[in-house]
Amino acid sequence: MPRATVARIDLAAIRHNFGLARQFAGGARAMAVIKADAYGHGIARVARTLAPDATCFAVACIEEALAIRDAGLAHPVVLLQGVHAAGDMATCAAQNFEPVLHSGYQLDWLAAQAAGPAFWIKVNTGMNRLGFRPAELSRVMAVLAGRKSAFLGFVTHFAASDEMDNDATRQQTAVFADAVAPWPDAELSVANSAAHFRDGQPLFTRSRPGIMLYGASPMAERNGSDLGLQPAMSLESNLIAVRTLAAGDAVGYGAAWRAERETPMGIVAIGYADGYPRHAGNGTPVWVKGHRAALIGRVSMDMLAVDLSAVPDAREGDPVELWGRNVSVDEVARCAGTISYELLTGVTARVPRLYHGG
Ligand SMILES: *Cc1c(COP(=O)(O)O)cnc(C)c1O
Repeated sequence: MPRATVARIDLAAIRHNFGLARQFAGGARAMAVIKADAYGHGIARVARTLAPDATCFAVACIEEALAIRDAGLAHPVVLLQGVHAAGDMATCAAQNFEPVLHSGYQLDWLAAQAAGPAFWIKVNTGMNRLGFRPAELSRVMAVLAGRKSAFLGFVTHFAASDEMDNDATRQQTAVFADAVAPWPDAELSVANSAAHFRDGQPLFTRSRPGIMLYGASPMAERNGSDLGLQPAMSLESNLIAVRTLAAGDAVGYGAAWRAERETPMGIVAIGYADGYPRHAGNGTPVWVKGHRAALIGRVSMDMLAVDLSAVPDAREGDPVELWGRNVSVDEVARCAGTISYELLTGVTARVPRLYHGG
């Protein structure tokens, strides 16, 4: 018998969330962002699930785009980081991949192609990671004019769209609109998931929903369910030991938690080698048999401990949900000082993905 530790993936939830993304996007067509193995959910299954509704997909790199082809799908795929080697331009052209070009060396690689791929240009409006500054655009576009490759449009990325009262998004939007105004026929894409939830935010012609497809919240301090999203991943395990701690007993490495009174305690067969965050603190909620129990002590490589005071009838073998419908991955992320993105993409290969709702 295998361990009970699994990630159950609800494909119907992903379809629901994509429907919501399209609804919020209004006239903008959605690129479904399925990089990083579809945020840990499995790129082939997620791509096939969204294929009937998605006009195109977006990934970080060419390996991920090829995984979509391996899944038997012919959709255009946007490469959000462009390409990492000159030879990949020809692969893009042959495979209908659309690189987002962000640096001069990528323009040179494109120019070296007789017939390169259709491509996007990244504009740096204040994130200051990748892209050409607005003042550089006319030179970039002049270099590209007359090439056989088709220019599709401009992309920019927001630095703080998850923070409702941060004005940076409005400023970046204004810088972008101004920078691209000389090319009125270009497609325009700004919207990560968070931008979908900002009142009055223009999404232009193409949206790029990522985290929201998986049901986690793109907005700081909110849970996915507050936004109408359905969690796609349920990370589950079970109790493999139940015991009673005496007052004064410590639990786990470093004796980092000590019982103040007699305490029923359970050991769950999941740890940081499965992707459960080691930095999740005492009190992080863990769903045990219909109740919220509290994580205690340090998370080990293969197990963690919970205080079962709230679950008096807990027995060995009982099911545990680490995150999913009952405990939001957003809440666990806050308890671990991180974001849902890191938790979802961090579930390791040791955890089998089991699919339903397809
Ligand atoms: C990952 C990514 C997205 C999706 O962001 P979410 O916050 O997950 O919606 C959109 N655009 C770019 C450029 C990205 O790298």
